[in-house]
Amino acid sequence: MESIDIRPQALREAAMTILEAGGSEPGEARIVADHLVLANLSGHDSHGVGMLPAYERTLSNGTLKTNRTVELVRDDGAIMMFDGGMGYGQVVGRQATAAAIERCRTSGVVLAPVRYCHHLGRIGTYGEQVADAGLASLHFVNVVGHPALVAPYRGTDARYSTNPICLSLPGSDAQPPILLDMATSRIAHGKARVAHNMGEEAPEGSLIDHRGRKTRDPGVLFRQPAGALTSFGDHKGYGLAVFCELLGGMMSGGRTAQPEHEMEGTIINNMFMIVFDPDRLVPRSAMEHELAALVAHVKASPAAEPDEPVLVPGDPERVSRIERAEAIPVDAESWRQIVAAGERLGVDPEKLDAMVAS
Ligand code: NAD
Repeated sequence: MESIDIRPQALREAAMTILEAGGSEPGEARIVADHLVLANLSGHDSHGVGMLPAYERTLSNGTLKTNRTVELVRDDGAIMMFDGGMGYGQVVGRQATAAAIERCRTSGVVLAPVRYCHHLGRIGTYGEQVADAGLASLHFVNVVGHPALVAPYRGTDARYSTNPICLSLPGSDAQPPILLDMATSRIAHGKARVAHNMGEEAPEGSLIDHRGRKTRDPGVLFRQPAGALTSFGDHKGYGLAVFCELLGGMMSGGRTAQPEHEMEGTIINNMFMIVFDPDRLVPRSAMEHELAALVAHVKASPAAEPDEPVLVPGDPERVSRIERAEAIPVDAESWRQIVAAGERLGVDPEKLDAMVAS
C-alpha cells in the first residue's frame, strides 16, 4: 500500500488545522497535535494522526468536549481524584498528571485516578511527563464507551477493550528513562486498523473471528459480526486487563466494561495513576547506578538474531524518533480518511494536501 512521507512539523500544522476546525482553542489544538505527531514519531501510528477521523466522529455526536479543564473532585492529601469531563484526554490527562507531579514534590507519593477522559492517546506520554520531572509512575487504564474489542482468555467474543498499562522510571545522564507502555491485547486496536488500511496481515495469534477461530485477517474487526483481539500472554495479559477495569474503571469512579453502562459510540479512558518520588526510597545516585548496571547486564545477553540486539522498554520509541525525525510515513488510506474528516469539519482538502506537500 502506498504511503506519503510528511515532515513532522507539516503534519502537526495539518492536525492543528483540523482540531481548530473542530472547535479547539489554539492551545488545545497544539497539545493534541503534538501528542498525536509524537506518537507517529515514536512508531505508534495506531495512536497518531490516524485517530483524527475517530475524534471527528465523537465531536460530531457530541461526546467529545472541546476546551475542557480537568476537575479535581477529591483532594485528600496523597489522594487526588480527577474528572476529565470527556475533554480531549491529551489535555485533561496532561493536566491531571501535572497536578499529581506538583503534589508529589511534597507528599512523596500521589494516587491520582482520572475518570471520563476522551481518548488519552499514547499512555507513555504521561509516563514521560512524570519521568521528565524526575519522578516515577504506574498507569492502569481501561477503555469503554464503544463496543468491546478483546476476548477474555478462553472466551470466543469481545468483552472489554485493549486496556493499556504504562510503568516509568526516570533516567540519568547515563541511561534514558525506562518506559514500558503497552496494550494488554496482543496488538493495539489501532495497529489492526493500520494493518487493515495497509492490506497487511495481523501477527499470528492476535485475532479471532466471530466464531472464535484464530485468524490473521484484521478485517474481522471492521465488519459484522465482528471478531475480537486476544490478550497478550494468555491468562496473564488477560488478568492484567481485568485489573485495568477494576483499578482504571472502578476505582476512579468511572465505569468498567460490564453491560449496565451504555456504549455511546465514543472513547472513554479512565486512568488509575500512581506517581512517586524515588528519592524518598533510595538515594538518587544509587538508583542511577543500579538502573544503568541492570540495563547493561540484560543488554549484554548475546542476541538470538545478530541484527536484533536486546533492548529495554522505551528503546524502540527512541530509535523510531531518530529515524522519523525528518519524515513520517502516513499510509494513503489513513491520509484520505484524515482529509475527509477535516472536510466534514469545514477544512478545504486542497489546503491540507498543500500543507503536507511542502
Ligand atoms: P508495543 O507492543 O509496540 O510496545 C510495548 C512496549 O514494549 C513499549 O514500551 C516498547 O518500548 C516495548 N518494547 C517493544 N519492543 C521491545 C523489545 N524488543 N525489547 C524491549 N522492549 C520492547 O505497544 P502496543 O502494545 O502496541 O501499544 C501501542 C500504544 O498504544 C501504547 O502507546 C499504548 O499506550 C497505546 N494504547 C492506548 C490505548 C488507549 O485507550 N488510550 C489503548 C491501547 C493501547
